Order: sequence, then C-alpha cells, then structure tokens
Amino acid sequence: MKAFTKMNKDELLTLKKSLEQRYQEFKALDLKLDMSRGKPCGEQLDLSMSILDMKECTIDNIECRNYGGLEGLPSIRRLFAQLLEVDENNVIIGGTSSLTLMYDYIAQAMLFGICGNKPWSKLEKVKFLCPVPGYDRHFAFCEHFGIEMINVPMTDNGPNIKVINELIKDDSVKGMFCVPKYSNPQGITYSDETVKALAALNPAAKDFRIIYDNAYCVHDLDKQGDKLLNIFDELPKNNNEDLVIMVASTSKITFAGSGVSCIIASGNNLDDIKKRLKIQSISQDKMNQLRHFKFFENVENIKAHMQKQAVILKPKFDCVINYLNNELANKEIASWYVPHGGYFISLDIMPGCAKRVGQLCEEAGVVLTTIGATFPYGKDPQDSNIRIAPSYPPIDELSKAANLLCICVQIAAIEKLLNLKNNLISIVFFTNYYYLSFF
Ligand code: PMP
Repeated sequence: MKAFTKMNKDELLTLKKSLEQRYQEFKALDLKLDMSRGKPCGEQLDLSMSILDMKECTIDNIECRNYGGLEGLPSIRRLFAQLLEVDENNVIIGGTSSLTLMYDYIAQAMLFGICGNKPWSKLEKVKFLCPVPGYDRHFAFCEHFGIEMINVPMTDNGPNIKVINELIKDDSVKGMFCVPKYSNPQGITYSDETVKALAALNPAAKDFRIIYDNAYCVHDLDKQGDKLLNIFDELPKNNNEDLVIMVASTSKITFAGSGVSCIIASGNNLDDIKKRLKIQSISQDKMNQLRHFKFFENVENIKAHMQKQAVILKPKFDCVINYLNNELANKEIASWYVPHGGYFISLDIMPGCAKRVGQLCEEAGVVLTTIGATFPYGKDPQDSNIRIAPSYPPIDELSKAANLLCICVQIAAIEKLLNLKNNLISIVFFTNYYYLSFF
C-alpha cells in the first residue's frame, strides 16, 4: 500500500469512500465496546479464586484477625522483597491500592514535608516532571494538589535524561513519576543506562523524590519478559539512597482493587512514612495479606501465575498488533510499540487526528481512553496519542474494536490530508488572485 502522504487528491478520495463504507457497516452493528481502561478480564480474575478458600487466620504466631503489624506480615514483606529483589526491611505493606500509597505520600509531603524539609504546601511553587505519554492518574494527583506538571518526552529507553538533568536544576522541581517497567501507556521498559542515570540524578531540591510506580513488575506477556535493572542496587553507588519511593501491588496479579500493595524505600524514607502510618491506622488488612501469601508462598508461583495470565492476555495484544500491522503499516500515518508486557498499546497517529478518531469510534459504539488523557492536564500538544487497553473485552469484541479503530485512524488521516491540500489550493488561489489584481 502506498503511503497516504504520497497519494494525490483523487486517490485519497477513492480510498476515503471505501473506508467510509466499512465504517458505516460497523456502525450498523450497533456496537457497545469498551477499550478505555486497563482492567483484567473475568478469566484472569478467575485464576485467583482459590484465594477466597483460605480459612487460616494465623501465621508465624501472628493472629491476623486482630489489630497490629502496621508494616505488614513478615512473610508477605519477604515475598514482595524477593519478587522486587530488595531487602525485606525496606518493604512496608499497604492496603489494596498502590495509588493510595502514592497519594498519601504526596499528601504527607504537602502537609508535613519530606524528611524534615519544608512542607510543599508552604512553598510558592511545586513542580513535578511527567514523562509523556504517561498515566492519567499520576497527572490527576498533581492537578489535585496544585503541583505544576512539566512534560518530559519518553524515548525508546525511558524518559529523556538530558531534559530531566536540565529541569532538576530548579529547586521547585520536587519529584517525578516513573513507570519503569512496561510503562503506561507505551509498554517501554527503561534501559539499564536510563535506570543508572535516574539513580545518579543530582536535583537541586534535597526533597526531590522519584515516585517509581512498578505496577507492571511481573506482567510479562512472554516467558522471557523485559529485565529492569534494580534501581535500589544503583542508588548507593551515587549516595542517593533516599531518592526513590517505589510502589507495587497485586491489583493485576490477583484481584484489581482487592489485592495487596507495598511501598519500598530507604530506612530514612520509611521512618518518615511510618510517622504518618501509625497515626493513620492501627493495622493493615492482615487477613488479605495472609490469603495472598498462602496463595503464592513463593516468587516462582507468582511467576507461574503470571504466565497463566499471559496465556489469556497475549492473544488479545497480538490481535490488536495484527490489525495495526495489516491496516496501518507503511502508510506513514501511525506508529506504535509492540510491548512485551503490561496492559497497554500506545498508538501515535498523524498529529491533529486523535480527537477526531476518538469521536468517530464513539459514534460507532467503541469507547477509547479519553483522548489527551495520556498527557498532563488532558492536553496532548500534538493531538496524536491513543491508549489502547486490550485486556478487558473478549477477543471477538476486541477484534471488531481494533478493526474499527484502524478504519477511523485512516479516515481521520485522509480528512486531514485533504484539508491540507484544500488549504494549499486556497493559498495558491488567493496568492495568484491578489498577485493578478495588484498588477
Ligand atoms: N499504577 C499504574 C501505572 C497503573 O497502570 C495502575 C492501574 N491502571 C495503577 C498504578 C493502579 O494500581 P493500584 O490498583 O495498586 O492502585
């Protein structure tokens, strides 16, 4: 297929006509499909049902039905520590959501300051660096707390380190969100060089923290998966032990919203966090921690469980990628990554077309993640990024949605190109008209 950009007006019009016909056929199906959020599907959730059969209430002589053990059960701290290759003393178990851990951490920084530093709320300005495209809920936190967001472009290896190094010279830049493995939405795993460079950052603000959201730490779609260098091994080499606050959860391992979360940080940071925790509650949900521990027992079992998830998820990712390859490749109107894990596929289309694609899809009954949501303030400066979440719909529905999406991407691109051509014709026409009337 010829690149759209190399087609003349007639070729574009003919192609548009046939695409619009396909679009109308989809519209007639009266679809109601949702590719908007990265939720596990029923089959994935079913894999963890035996968690609920657990009847035990004690472990290591700890009565899990009662108060206490704010840091979490030692056995589940150890399990997370082994999974994430960190020291178990650096792990604190949270409730069911890692987002809550992040929110609380920022709220604490705002109200009380980090490790004895001035509360952020007392500062004139607080800024965060946001790798883009990124996760809308991270951006929502910043907006909620009045933190100014600065876009940092992603590269194939993670966020652009040169840009970061320039921006952190400003001491009002207090933090940065990172999803280092299978980033949301691109599915990029940070390279070793990126992880090393992050661990070596030298920000002007001493209370600058990288919120390292390792939501997809074991979420490989194939057996090998990507290998993420352990940032906690790199930090001490740079005397930067306190730089990183990592979070993770079992939301997309067991039950989304009913799993177990954890926060991993240096002793200094955890001491700081514990000052809040012990005021905030008496204990976490140790029964859920126990159920999760008993369900997995060890890291090998977690990995085996994730391979079962991959058997369900991989065909869905392949389905979308196949449509992208078959319908959009070599047309110079779209590009995408083929992720080895995580929950999303990020599609970049011709600038100025994403909103139009969102509208066309919606009118035909397919809901995509809100266009623009992958950028701070919901503003994609290029209007070109679309996040695809293939996990939730059954594969036959997904297949229809992906097919329709590809049709809409092509229609929007042709509309844009025809518009450009028309504008060009008017410019030439008017220039000639004025030129002639002048003489
Ligand atoms: N972080 C990222 C990057 C995510 O994609 C998600 C889920 N979409 C979450 C956090 C949510 O995690 P939790 O359920 O543990 O709050």
